[in-house]
Amino acid sequence: MEILDGKKINQEIMKSLKNEIAIFDVKPRLVIIQIGNNEASNIYIERKVNFAVEIGCECKVEKLKNEISEEKVVEIINKYNSDESVHGIIVQLPIPEVMDNRKILNSIDYRKDVDGLSNINLSKLVNNEKGIVPATARGILTLLKQYNISVEKKNIVVLGRSTLVGKSTALLMLNQNSTVTVCHSNTVDLDKYLKSADIIITATGQHGVINESNIGENQVVIDVGTNFVENKLVGDVKLNNLDKVSYISPVPGGVGPMTVASLFQNLLDSYKKLI
Ligand code: NDP
Repeated sequence: MEILDGKKINQEIMKSLKNEIAIFDVKPRLVIIQIGNNEASNIYIERKVNFAVEIGCECKVEKLKNEISEEKVVEIINKYNSDESVHGIIVQLPIPEVMDNRKILNSIDYRKDVDGLSNINLSKLVNNEKGIVPATARGILTLLKQYNISVEKKNIVVLGRSTLVGKSTALLMLNQNSTVTVCHSNTVDLDKYLKSADIIITATGQHGVINESNIGENQVVIDVGTNFVENKLVGDVKLNNLDKVSYISPVPGGVGPMTVASLFQNLLDSYKKLI
């Protein structure tokens, strides 16, 4: 069994982005819009800001009150859309439930949509055209590639069907010539699909959804889940004997750091197209 060390790869990407950015006079600039004061979001934003500082990017966090209107948020996004000094804009999820998530994400200029979640970038992913790929999906593919794990012609089971993770990861893998099965909470006989997979990518937010009894031998397991059990961060996977798998991404230290690194790879790609 080998650990897919996302933290290590994060550091390698950090170094290479830092070297690349050092030669630019105008630095890439990211704006993170946070609506409300979600505690988990505060931690994720802090990680992004720290990464930006390390690589020499400018990063502004625009904190908006929970009660702000949707129209006002769109107005603020439009201000950054037309600001030439801004190369990337993200809206930290989740946003308040009363707001139309899709409307807000779609108001970001697709060229600055470094989370890749606007309809334009998602449709590019659907059509296998070059666009901005959601950071978690990109991070998972990069992590596998770094360990020379090919996804081509592999049977991949993605557990979870959110746009943010499940669907976007499934589409990215499909575009890489994997055979992809997407499972969710209504899937009948989940174990059958899990056992037949070469690679399992789990993103449910349910600790224990992947366990000793429902996976096969020597599979690659990518754990995207972030759950808190007794105040401890754990993933979707609950295995006593890790030797059952061939590779596994840990939580923490697996997909999380890859998501952050991929966001900044997306930012740099956008920057190069915009300047
Ligand atoms: P969502 O809640 O939007 O989606 C969860 C998905 O899992 C749904 O499709 C749901 O099915 C499915 N699901 C839930 N329970 C089961 C079950 N018992 N069996 C099969 N499928 C199940 O979450 P997200 O996609 O936004 O995030 C998923 C997890 O990944 C979370 O823990 C989140 O914190 C984490 N995450 C981690 C990131 C990282 O960088 N490490 C980045 C983003 C998210 P259905 O559609 O039927 O409801």
